[in-house]
Amino acid sequence: MQNNILVINCGSSSLKFSLVNPISGQNIISGLAECLLSVDAFITIKHQGEKKKFNLPTPYDHQVAISALVNYLIENNLKESVSALGHRVVHGGEKYSQPTLINEDIKQSIEQLSKLAPLHNPANLQGINAAEQVFNDLPQVAIFDTAFHQSMPKRSYLYGLPYHLYKEHGIRKYGFHGTSHYFVSREAAKIINKPSKECNFISAHLGNGCSITAIKNGKSVDTSLGLTPLEGVMMGTRSGDVDPGVIFHLVDQLGYTLEEVNNTLNKKSGLLGVSQLSNDCRAIEEAAQGGNKQALLALTLFSYRIAKSIASFSCNFTSLDGLIFTGGIGENSNFIRALILSQLSLLNFTEDSKGNKAMRFGNQGCITTKDSTPCWVIPTNEEWVIAEQTFKLLNKEN
Ligand code: AMP
Repeated sequence: MQNNILVINCGSSSLKFSLVNPISGQNIISGLAECLLSVDAFITIKHQGEKKKFNLPTPYDHQVAISALVNYLIENNLKESVSALGHRVVHGGEKYSQPTLINEDIKQSIEQLSKLAPLHNPANLQGINAAEQVFNDLPQVAIFDTAFHQSMPKRSYLYGLPYHLYKEHGIRKYGFHGTSHYFVSREAAKIINKPSKECNFISAHLGNGCSITAIKNGKSVDTSLGLTPLEGVMMGTRSGDVDPGVIFHLVDQLGYTLEEVNNTLNKKSGLLGVSQLSNDCRAIEEAAQGGNKQALLALTLFSYRIAKSIASFSCNFTSLDGLIFTGGIGENSNFIRALILSQLSLLNFTEDSKGNKAMRFGNQGCITTKDSTPCWVIPTNEEWVIAEQTFKLLNKEN
């Protein structure tokens, strides 16, 4: 097989990768380089059911991580099977709603869009540059996390702010997790045996970052994340929606600097902030089961805010084909799913407790009763979408 796609998802100190068969979705190898730019940098590679860990040499950067990966591919006769690279790029602004072949102009655009995603786009670009050094003969494609949401109408993406802030500065809702929402909605359409473009779904991607999306006739018409990944429901460490007045109160009355506000809302809030324990849903559930009231309060807030967001998005539809849960929490926590469904009885959701408990660790299936509006757990597979879209673009099927 000469058509595998190397999928790269680069963060500021990490680099996630998968070698994917774009037709079958088979993951040939996958792994993660972590603690980059520190002496503790290492890479883990999963291949044929085995997990191997290697320390990375100086200068411990993304380039070194890619080189280690390439050496592994060469040693295992896999390098020649790579036909192209697909990069997850977080922010494509209004310009990029499709997979895009990377050239110098596109790299410049990604750089310019860094002002909308200062934590992500520069890291994505680092991954692209590092990969170009080693795979200079192969095409590289950018798949933007915002792209799926470019179909949102104005009423969804505009804020109630002075209009020039949108026109001149691009301040609007863009949304994220687009690749994941696209994938699970397509899978749900297969389950009900209907063409995607005739399906109405609400999808809930619940991981460390969380977002809800309304998908009408196969297209995103609203989503909970905004200009940045801070808007919407409560997340692992992010607050989600708060009264913007809270920011002025923190600064004017409590003496916070803007950096401290930023840090509080992005890194110290959400499940971590309320539970005062952890951002890890598993740990909080365990504590709540052991009687920790603060942990239970965190889960109660988390699930109510998600249920409220799902209910509010229902105003986009006159009929709904179903609700989809995905992401680490959505795929594994029957407790959170049950809490959310129990608050959505007006939308005719009734949990099937046995079915719900069975959906964990990569299982896919329905978790509601026969007379309920259906709700499914569908494990996401962003890597496959990135590989498939890269392959299709290069083979002009898009
Ligand atoms: P993600 O960002 O999609 O990798 O999801 C990470 C989140 O999924 C963390 O909050 C984990 O605690 C949560 N998670 C993973 N497995 C489970 C589980 N079995 N039960 C509850 N939460 C889980």
